[in-house]
Amino acid sequence: MCICVFRTGRLMAKQRVALECLSYHATASAESTAELVSRHVPSALQLNLYRSVLCRWILSVQKNYRPVKYHNWRHALNVTQTMFALLRTGKMAGFISDQEVLGLMVACLSHDLDHRGTNNAFQSKTDSPLAMLYSTSTMEHHHFDQCVMILNSEGNNIFQVLKPEDYRQVMDTVQQAILSTDLEQYFKTKPQFLQVVRNGQPDWHEPHNKKLLMGMLMTACDVSAISKPWEIQHRVAKQVADEFFYQGDLERTKLNAQPSAMMDRERRDELPKMQMEFINLICIPLYAGLSEAFPWMRPMYEGCLQNLKHWQELSDQVDIGLTWIDRDSIEEPVETSRDISVNRITLHGKITDSPASKPERTLSVKVQKPSRSSGNVSPQSHNSTTMSMASSDRRSSAPSGQQPAALGRHRRFGRSCRRQEQETRLCAIS
Ligand SMILES: [Zn+2]
Repeated sequence: MCICVFRTGRLMAKQRVALECLSYHATASAESTAELVSRHVPSALQLNLYRSVLCRWILSVQKNYRPVKYHNWRHALNVTQTMFALLRTGKMAGFISDQEVLGLMVACLSHDLDHRGTNNAFQSKTDSPLAMLYSTSTMEHHHFDQCVMILNSEGNNIFQVLKPEDYRQVMDTVQQAILSTDLEQYFKTKPQFLQVVRNGQPDWHEPHNKKLLMGMLMTACDVSAISKPWEIQHRVAKQVADEFFYQGDLERTKLNAQPSAMMDRERRDELPKMQMEFINLICIPLYAGLSEAFPWMRPMYEGCLQNLKHWQELSDQVDIGLTWIDRDSIEEPVETSRDISVNRITLHGKITDSPASKPERTLSVKVQKPSRSSGNVSPQSHNSTTMSMASSDRRSSAPSGQQPAALGRHRRFGRSCRRQEQETRLCAIS
């Protein structure tokens, strides 16, 4: 009886999700597809993809993003551009097969499909149909389902030329990559990834290591705004905050609940401190670990440290009574504010509205030679990152000889509980 009720509930939830999607979305129009097909798309030929199918698919993906403040098509494009830069300028393509590259690029473009501007916790709190379908990684499962739905729509299957085995493999890559953008997954796999890095000269072609690496790359791209030049980081942080405040408003009005600090627009001045927490807990370990294994990724780590300093300065200003945020501009729709373009090959960011007054801010990529030609990279050639990770280790596992053992254990337990609380809170971001 119970199983029947559960199955019926699940089927109804699935139906409601499908109806919501159908009523909101449609695949790309013939006109927009024809317009894009008329452009030059050389890589489509290289990858043996039908150009019209590729163009229709990409426009359908664009159409299936909602105009929310942050998790919109522009975010998907930014994540994809960063992955492209990591693969090319960051030399990561040397560690990943062409088919996996294809899977990662598709995953980047699709990874937040049909995002509604509310997170996994909100789906659960509101008993949304999506939460009935998936109790963990709710939105990420939905993003992948949407990705499959678009690929299965007539004239949108860019993988149609692949052999069945290749098709299965590329879809596995896409699924794993999209699911890995849930920050809860990141917290679970990060220790394993850092362990592999610290073991020295890992074989990145070994399937388990490869899976860990691709998951870390997806997170590195998903949160990459944190490593971009300050003007971009500052602007994106406002967009994220604006979307969170929208959820906070819904929680207050629809659920009659007090939103958490990061979702509460009344506590917007705490944003610099929350950004610092986000950087310290998620971004620095991530970019430090990646830079330790792949020194070409170091600019992202350095950009992250730069932004940490900026947030610290703003936090200090808030502490002495100055507000960091322009209360009007945060309400301004994203698309009406000034435009920022990012170079399509490098990680260079450029403000486009006032070239005369604002010099181009760049995040230069210092290319160092790997100690091995492919696959394995010696960790010895990038000392400062290693030192930084070592100092963070010292903080988290200080020798108990410097304090009474029981007190040391107690403090460590307290720290680990606090860290878990922080991690759970920060998972709200994904
Ligand atoms: Zn995302």
